[in-house]
Amino acid sequence: MSEIATSQRFSRQKIRKWLLILSFVLLPVTLVYISPVIILMGAAEGIATGSMILFILLFILSLAVSRLWCGWLCPMGAWQEICSPVMKHTVEAGWRNYIKYGVTFLWLALLAYLFISAGGIRSVDLFYNTQNGLSITSLTVLVVVIVIFIVIFSVAYLAGRRGFCHLLCPVAGLMVAGRKIRNLGGWPSLHLDADKTRCIDCNRCSKECPMGLDVHEMVQQEKMENADCILCGSCADSCPKGAVWYGWTEK
Ligand code: SF4
Ligand code: SF4
Repeated sequence: MSEIATSQRFSRQKIRKWLLILSFVLLPVTLVYISPVIILMGAAEGIATGSMILFILLFILSLAVSRLWCGWLCPMGAWQEICSPVMKHTVEAGWRNYIKYGVTFLWLALLAYLFISAGGIRSVDLFYNTQNGLSITSLTVLVVVIVIFIVIFSVAYLAGRRGFCHLLCPVAGLMVAGRKIRNLGGWPSLHLDADKTRCIDCNRCSKECPMGLDVHEMVQQEKMENADCILCGSCADSCPKGAVWYGWTEK
């Protein structure tokens, strides 16, 4: 078991929060490179875009580190965490959480259809739909982006903390698929470990979880694998007894 000092754990969450803020601030540059819509627009012209390359990389990464991207670098996740003080409830476990898999399936089906209609992948353009590498370059694009962020906020506000990640994000479905493949293969990967004998039932882990998971219950069952865990480490870093920690083993 790996244990780290409280100050180090605090620093780790500080780094994570700063990384999320940075990813959010950089959106005027990066938006196009992380947009599932831009991938579809490129596909309609037979172009593999920079965002498509990134999504392929995220899928490959998820085979080793699951949804680490969501917890540490995604600007849409960052936006929801910035707004989290006004999110009063958490997303209920159950059927709603499966909607995102339908979204991912439909998005992939549309992507395949558009590429086939365009005669396949005819070129690669990493900077597709950018101007000098920048994403937000006009007032119109800015307005569209603001609307997107209002929608993301509204979904999270109505559904619960990081509600968009739980319910509608097509990238989440891709990375969960990667995680499931890894679980079938059983090779070493980043995950959470827990020791319930250390737990004092303070519930701090559940309160700190940005995805609103019942981490305390996961610890009690020593079953930390959860499709909606974004491996942010907040539970590990908030536990006063070190009952949760990151691991990297076959399991
Ligand atoms: S279970 Fe822990 S690592 Fe996973 S999302 Fe919740 S706080 Fe983050
Ligand atoms: S924070 Fe740690 S001690 Fe408190 S409930 Fe969670 S696992 Fe148990």
